[in-house]
This record gives sequence, structure tokens and C-alpha cells, in this order.
Amino acid sequence: MFDSELDRDASKVSRRVFLTGAGAAVAGLAFWQLRKPRVLEAAAAAAASEPKEVTVVLFSDSGERLKKVQIPKVIKTEAEWRKQLSDNAFDIARRADTEIAFTGKYWNVHDKGLYRCICCDNALFDSATKFDSGTGWPSFWQPIAAENVTETRDTTFGIVRTAVSCTECDAHLGHVFDDGPQPTGLRYCMNSASLRFIPRS
Ligand SMILES: [Zn+2]
Repeated sequence: MFDSELDRDASKVSRRVFLTGAGAAVAGLAFWQLRKPRVLEAAAAAAASEPKEVTVVLFSDSGERLKKVQIPKVIKTEAEWRKQLSDNAFDIARRADTEIAFTGKYWNVHDKGLYRCICCDNALFDSATKFDSGTGWPSFWQPIAAENVTETRDTTFGIVRTAVSCTECDAHLGHVFDDGPQPTGLRYCMNSASLRFIPRS
């Protein structure tokens, strides 16, 4: 089949290069699938089967509960989110990344106020439920209204966790664990980058 040893060797080399390249691509894909998108897949699956309207509770900036409303879900393109958000906020809120502990804006903030979604302004947490978890992430023992956050099973990294997202726009917020303080025993471990704090005077 081959005219010479040279041709045979050249063929081996190019085949090896091809296989290595293909192997790397498959490994990269597997890594990507393992690493993040379980949350995104779950969110996408949920979004596909969900109605385009969601029920949330509105709050004033001073934290006053206003009313429960049914509103259209906030849906934007990747380009629109990138334009609106910082690179860091985009990676965390729209790509389910996690900020490095003790680096976010709010882990050590204990002022009174309201935490809204960085993407859509949905009210998420009140400072009255914030506690010092020692983790380096802003931590709360309860969301401001159960309707305003959505919890989904997340198996990224092969660990079963419960991811927390914004009901109104699907922004990834963080995870909830059952080692929090009373009265709920829950620890909503959030990313500062997904939140916008409104201090209460
Ligand atoms: Zn939102």
C-alpha cells in the first residue's frame, strides 16, 4: 500500500497527530460537561417545560413586601447579558461559575438592606437573614420569598448539591446547604457577583 518507508512513517505521524487532537477534543468536551453545565442543563430543561410566566413577590427597596405577581420571565440573549453585566457577573450569573471565597463584595457586609438579582432586580434576600458563615460567601438562612428563588438538583463535579437560581431570570445565585443556623437550619451560600445590595437608611 505504501510506496516507501518514508510514506509509511509520514502516515503514522499524521494519524497519531489526528488521534491526539481528537482525544484532546473529546477529553475537553467531557471535562466541560462534568464541570459546569449540569446546572445549566437542568435550568434549560426546566425553562423548556416551564411556562413563560413566573410568580414572584415584589418588594420595595426598603424591604417592604408589596404583592405577589405573575410576570413574564426575563429572557435575554447571551449578547444582551454580556452587554449588561461585568465579565465576572456574566460568568457567575449566566454560566454558573463560583466566585473565589473572600473576594466578593458582600461576604463581609452586615449593613441593613435588600439584596436584589444583579440581572433582573428581583428581590432575593434581606439582611435580617444574613449571617457570618465563615465561608467567604454571603450567607443567608432564608430567601426573602420562597417564590423568588428556584432550587434545582446540581450534580456538577459528581457532588449532589442544590443550586439556587433567580425565578424571574434564571440567574445562577449559588447553592443551599442544610448546615445553617436556626430557625431554618439552611445556609444559602450565594455569590456576591449575582447580587446587588441596596442599603436601608
Ligand atoms: Zn434575576
